[in-house]
Amino acid sequence: MVDNYRNGDVSHWMRGTGAEQPTRVQAESRRAPLPSEQQDLVIVGGGMTGLWTAYYAITEHPEWKITVLDAHEVGYGGSGRNGGWVSTLIPGNRAVYAKAANKRGEDGKAAVRSFQHEMSAAITETLRVLEAEGINADEHRGGQLQAATTPAALKRLQATYRANLDNGYDESAIELLDARAFKDRIGIAPALGGMYYRDTARVDPAKLTRGLAEVVESRGVTIREHAHVDAIEPGLAKTSRGIIRGRTVLSCLEAFTGAVQSSGPGFGKREVIPVNSSMVVTAPLSDADWRRIGWDGRECLNDGAHTFVYAQRTADNRIAIGGRGTPYAYASGLPGEGEVDAKTIKTLKDRLHFFFPEANIAIDHAWRGSIGVTRDWCAGIYFDPATGIGNARGYAGHGVTATNLAARTLLDRVAGRSTNLTALPWNDHDSGLWEPEPIRWVGVHAMYSLFGVADAWEESRNSEHTSLIARFGSRLAGLHE
Ligand SMILES: Cc1cc2nc3c(=O)[nH]c(=O)nc-3n(C[C@H](O)[C@H](O)[C@H](O)COP(=O)(O)OP(=O)(O)OC[C@H]3O[C@@H](n4cnc5c(N)ncnc54)[C@H](O)[C@@H]3O)c2cc1C
Repeated sequence: MVDNYRNGDVSHWMRGTGAEQPTRVQAESRRAPLPSEQQDLVIVGGGMTGLWTAYYAITEHPEWKITVLDAHEVGYGGSGRNGGWVSTLIPGNRAVYAKAANKRGEDGKAAVRSFQHEMSAAITETLRVLEAEGINADEHRGGQLQAATTPAALKRLQATYRANLDNGYDESAIELLDARAFKDRIGIAPALGGMYYRDTARVDPAKLTRGLAEVVESRGVTIREHAHVDAIEPGLAKTSRGIIRGRTVLSCLEAFTGAVQSSGPGFGKREVIPVNSSMVVTAPLSDADWRRIGWDGRECLNDGAHTFVYAQRTADNRIAIGGRGTPYAYASGLPGEGEVDAKTIKTLKDRLHFFFPEANIAIDHAWRGSIGVTRDWCAGIYFDPATGIGNARGYAGHGVTATNLAARTLLDRVAGRSTNLTALPWNDHDSGLWEPEPIRWVGVHAMYSLFGVADAWEESRNSEHTSLIARFGSRLAGLHE
């Protein structure tokens, strides 16, 4: 099939939700002047973190004056561009969180297990709110399947299975599958087996984000788009549309965090960097192709490669797949409208052909976005009661579930409550700083190149052993557990 695809334009999901032509009410009200009176809560960033925070804040305090500011439009960041996995995976390295908790005199393993428990519970909570508020985000809880396509990847999955049990997954929540059992679910030609995660769900992320925005707006939250925040200071945010004052100001900017000036906790150009992830979505596949492939459970899908891909079967029977591509732009460059280079699009399409060689696949739309990555790949939640400034960021590509948990955690911190959430090890986590440029650019590119070489080595040899190059790359990046 010939590809005649749209490139960039934020994402397939955002273009599919009417973001191009917002309703008149939204278009007008979201461009109105900023409120001049002091707010109880100002939220900077109209993605999932910001909107979940607004949702829980207005639910608990219907009397509060709350404003959400976004430099572009609601969903313009990762929240409108992602793979739609509402996954159980903790945002960060479990061993690093455990070590940090041990250092504070806590039981590190127990802290990680508690984090895992809260992640799985946050999926249930996300789906509960969607149902309670009548938001249709094409949600479906079909689990996640991770395919091993080399013997080395299969061995890694077996080790991950054991580590998962040790780190808080219930035995009933994960399952190792042999090749036959895997292909009965999804007919990936090269699958040698895999792992099933029961609790994961799939969504259309833009429908979730924009749906949440409509709900909070209907409850009285003010949303202002095209309001670029330049600086956050105690009691105020300085924006391209003037100053807005708030008792509490929470930054929910993920990959954009480093571009905003603030002396608050977790800010700074070297704290979080934007790392790109690219996606393509196919045209709907034919019924004949779906009969061959299966995938009736609509599980989220990924592989066990070092430069892995992640995918979902959409509600309208396309495949959306992401991963690979140019990882990092010099000096923390941002992805703008999300245009993807031809080589990356071809790489993702080749991966689809590798998985489903008999399917007739045409690409409909390609885009990319940035994930926020800290030096140790762990996320952090911060709140300083003295200044009223808070911050949540660094989900490293595992933010859809984590944003819900982060929002509730931030609000517990703002209220001064001591809860299970405020005890989780990502609170006030110190990730260290990224190296200055050009070392940073060289380091990130070297890591991705090493992983690419390792994948090629393992695939070409059908190797049973994880390449030493990949082990080195993991250590260089601080990704090994
Ligand atoms: C291609 C891709 C695929 C992904 N796939 C998955 C997945 O399948 N599952 C998963 O769990 N995670 C995934 N992620 C990560 C996930 O999307 C993010 O972790 C999550 O959306 C972060 O939400 P957020 O609200 O914190 O940040 P964002 O959604 O990035 O929101 C930040 C908002 O801030 C606004 N903004 C930026 N600068 C300013 C400023 N100066 N002033 C005011 N506003 C500003 C932006 O316009 C944006 O709307 C993926 C990310 C990408 C890019």
